[in-house]
Amino acid sequence: MDKNKFLNYVKDLDFSGISVTEIYNKISNAAVSMLNLKRRECRYATYISIEYLVGNVFYNNLMALGVLEQVTEILEKKGVNINIFEEIEDAALGNGGLGRLAACFLDSAAAKGYPLYGYGIRYKYGLFKQVIEKGCQTEYPDDWQKYGDPWSIKKEEESRTIHFKDYDVKAVPYDMLIIGKRINALRLFEAEGEKAKEICEYLYPPDDTEQGKLLRIRQEYFLSAATIGELIDRHISKYNNILSFSKYNCIQLNDTHPVMAIAEFIRILTSIYNIGFDDAVKAAKKSFNYTNHTIMPEALECWDYKLIEQILPDIANVLIKLHNYSQAEWNNISCQKDEMNSMAIFYDNKFSMANTAVYIASSVNGVAEIHTEIIKKQLFSAANKYYPSKFKNVTNGVTHRRWLQLCNKELSALLDDSAGKWRDNIHLLKNFIVSDNNIKEFKKIKALKKRQLADYILKRQGIKIDSESIVYCHIKRLHEYKRQLMTAFAILCIYYDIKTGKLTDFYPSTFIFGGKAAAGYFRAKGIIKYINEIADMINNDAANDKIKVVFAENYNVSYAEKIIAGSDVSLQVSTAGMEASGTGNMKLMMNGAVTAGTMDGANIEIVQKAGKQNNYIFGATVEDIEKLVGTYCPVSFLEKNPKLKYVVNTLIDGTFSDKGKGWFEEIYNSLTKTIWHRADNYFVLYDLPAYVETLLKVNEDYKQKDKFAIKAINNIANSGYFSSDRTIAEYAKDIWKIDSV
Ligand SMILES: *Cc1c(COP(=O)(O)O)cnc(C)c1O
Repeated sequence: MDKNKFLNYVKDLDFSGISVTEIYNKISNAAVSMLNLKRRECRYATYISIEYLVGNVFYNNLMALGVLEQVTEILEKKGVNINIFEEIEDAALGNGGLGRLAACFLDSAAAKGYPLYGYGIRYKYGLFKQVIEKGCQTEYPDDWQKYGDPWSIKKEEESRTIHFKDYDVKAVPYDMLIIGKRINALRLFEAEGEKAKEICEYLYPPDDTEQGKLLRIRQEYFLSAATIGELIDRHISKYNNILSFSKYNCIQLNDTHPVMAIAEFIRILTSIYNIGFDDAVKAAKKSFNYTNHTIMPEALECWDYKLIEQILPDIANVLIKLHNYSQAEWNNISCQKDEMNSMAIFYDNKFSMANTAVYIASSVNGVAEIHTEIIKKQLFSAANKYYPSKFKNVTNGVTHRRWLQLCNKELSALLDDSAGKWRDNIHLLKNFIVSDNNIKEFKKIKALKKRQLADYILKRQGIKIDSESIVYCHIKRLHEYKRQLMTAFAILCIYYDIKTGKLTDFYPSTFIFGGKAAAGYFRAKGIIKYINEIADMINNDAANDKIKVVFAENYNVSYAEKIIAGSDVSLQVSTAGMEASGTGNMKLMMNGAVTAGTMDGANIEIVQKAGKQNNYIFGATVEDIEKLVGTYCPVSFLEKNPKLKYVVNTLIDGTFSDKGKGWFEEIYNSLTKTIWHRADNYFVLYDLPAYVETLLKVNEDYKQKDKFAIKAINNIANSGYFSSDRTIAEYAKDIWKIDSV
């Protein structure tokens, strides 16, 4: 891009009487029109994902173009603070970690010059907007396109028709530009046509009814077929030989949602190109790879034969054939019956999308070392026995451009002074050493980021926090395994100890929660209400000047950027074995927060790199949990610990009210009774005492500010490994075999 031409354009803009949205669109359109789009060359990789949690694109793109500072100055001179564009809603076409990872990968690939293209769905409404009303979550539609979508280019002429048995829809691509050393694109398909509206209306429409399940299947096939159709046509028009597809293409399936792409690929090869089934499967095996993101059974999709057959008979047919084909292969290598069942593509009248992916993929990866070990030993143990070379670990990462440069320019400037060209080569962060100057400057910067966070919370929610307090944050999707409830209990334990005078020298602390609960996940919604009840009580206690609790409303990428830069302590307390990796933990580490967490997901690698002494690890390990299952009895545990019992009883003793919804009692029952699951199956009460102690230890250590800053510096210096630049380089070399061009 011709930077001067662009900056002159911005200088010449007349802002009088035009709205923020119009300014946003003018500047963005000008940048896009001046960009020189590169075409695909050679071998490239395709990332298919049902989610992309992109966030605000304006600041990020201007930064990527190297003009953010200049534009900030130009606007300042015109009396416009660049922060006004914060009111442009995030593009939230994703739920949480999985979607944000996809966005980080695209950023890193473009920055590092790898030809990687993302494919997804252009939902009309992104993840719902969360409003907290009387302490409860209410969901409102997120109409992100109402501000315009100036960074995307519609490619009407590249539309294609997608066939379902009952109707056709048109898939119209929009390319969202991904700017870096190369310009790649995130291609999002919008459905057009009489019946099309519902297909791309919502991200994850409810799937508890048959209609809902059919809609999910339609979405998944829509994305798969639009992507595969395009890749094959593009390949044929260039090389005119379908069997060389895998020489130039490589497809990464992000979790199970796009697995129907495999069946679509085989369908096209066999029915349009007249390739034999055997050769078509072999071609698929060379083209696809699969990333598993979770071992939670509800996320490992299985679709009823009759549902797929009803709207996609050819796909059902291909999957059945593939099932028979794989069974024959396993018979040949003398697999045992139970192994064959566990690997089966078709079982109990259902298609297992995960097993389909594992069978076809040349590479199956988990997203952190412990997670990869778990999928090898448990989830896919039979496949690992017969195809050990398929399984790889690629530990997740986050882009340090958004999660450090953009959200913490002050810390980035300090790193420029001490770590050289770390922005291009993240491993140079190692040079950020513990020195008197770095300690002093880091403390100043953290204090500043906390003041900025306090201002932001005040502006966004009208809540005042003490910016000199310790900021502990627990920010992520609301889920029982992530154990926000345990943090809530821990806060109560500490609060009551302060009230009764048992705890005297507690350093003032602010606990920030942030996260959305899935609309139909009642227990998670109950936990939000419970946290807000606790916040109400504690924040309104005039005698309390030690603890403040904030529930960050509508936690999204933009909010995350502020909280992450301004936090001292990163709470990562999932039940061991349950959090595949986590990426919030990495973002916080980069910004100099210490981790207080369990030995789970990437926390393990974080403390390996940054040192246990610089973080706070507690709680049951995966091995401990394995032993506890079956013997752990939370009720007798509570009986032995009156303080815990007192705190847990606040769910039912009238201390707090859920306004007759029955949520709190249900949560209480989930902890103490065997219902449809074992009592306290996330081991909240088991880990709680150690958690409280850990939080108090952090609190105590924080008083020695220099020592605490040293821990933070060690975390930052060792966070380079967790940049998605490293992750993407591993995928490129070990899985995709693509070069930076
Ligand atoms: C990073 C991120 C997540 C993932 O957080 P985890 O702690 O890894 O679960 C979720 N939502 C947003 C907005 C994020 O930025």
